[in-house]
Amino acid sequence: MSEAAFFQALLYLMLALSAVVFVVLFFISAPYGRHIRRGWGPALRSQFAWVLMETPAALVFAIFYFIGPNHFTLPSIFFFCIWEFHYLYRAFLYPWFIRKSVKSMPISVVLMGITFNLCNGYLNGRYLFTYANQYTAAWLLDPRFIAGVALFMLGIVINRQADNTLRKLRIPGDTSYHIPQGGLYEWISSPNYLGEIIQWLGWALATWSWVGLAFALWTLANLVPRAWFHHQWYRKQFADYPPRRRALLPGIW
Ligand code: NDP
Repeated sequence: MSEAAFFQALLYLMLALSAVVFVVLFFISAPYGRHIRRGWGPALRSQFAWVLMETPAALVFAIFYFIGPNHFTLPSIFFFCIWEFHYLYRAFLYPWFIRKSVKSMPISVVLMGITFNLCNGYLNGRYLFTYANQYTAAWLLDPRFIAGVALFMLGIVINRQADNTLRKLRIPGDTSYHIPQGGLYEWISSPNYLGEIIQWLGWALATWSWVGLAFALWTLANLVPRAWFHHQWYRKQFADYPPRRRALLPGIW
């Protein structure tokens, strides 16, 4: 099988699997954080788990950037920088920034995360820096690029602010849960997930690619069901949970 055929097959598989994962995760909540439970095998320390899961995305994308023939164009440099900005933060800063209640994550979850990040890093890195030929300097002025990058930035700001609010809910050593207040938390239970979704929808738009779309669909597939589980959990846990607060979309859902 040629690499191009492998690439196509993997892309189709990822697109199809995103729909399957979306449905399955409404029945089985991913077993980490507040939804952790027995039966998912041995676990790893959370910080180490995040580093292991997220590093492949940063690494594989960087490898395909440096070996790709298109890495000198301005859009390519820009895509490389914003991808790494996100993943270097997620792999090497975020794990020490959060305050966890459960100090471990099942290895099975970590392995799924690694597999996804390897495939996703490969698809995006290979396409953008080798197969694509549309990212010339003119792409910087394309409305899809401009709107996509604006969405990406907006998503990052929402995600980071929301994760920051969660962090401040616990003083060091506290393992309990509290009702988050302020900002988008007045409207929804998981603004960090909404920010992440907006970010990768922005990526799909800015790259105008099937690989970008596949990533955005996987982000939706992971985070929409999880936002729903979080919301139900909050409502069960706190009798005074604000009734107007929705799961993910202000005023709607
Ligand atoms: P959560 O919102 O479940 O938790 C984030 C952190 O905040 C955890 O340390 C959690 O502790 C803590 N926390 C959450 N709610 C409360 C509360 N009410 N009171 C006190 N502490 C709280 O996010 P995830 O762990 O699922 O995800 C982390 C980041 O990774 C997010 O930014 C998310 O967008 C991103 N992500 C992206 C995915 C993608 O597909 N692109 C997939 C999964 C995550 P504890 O662990 O003890 O619950």
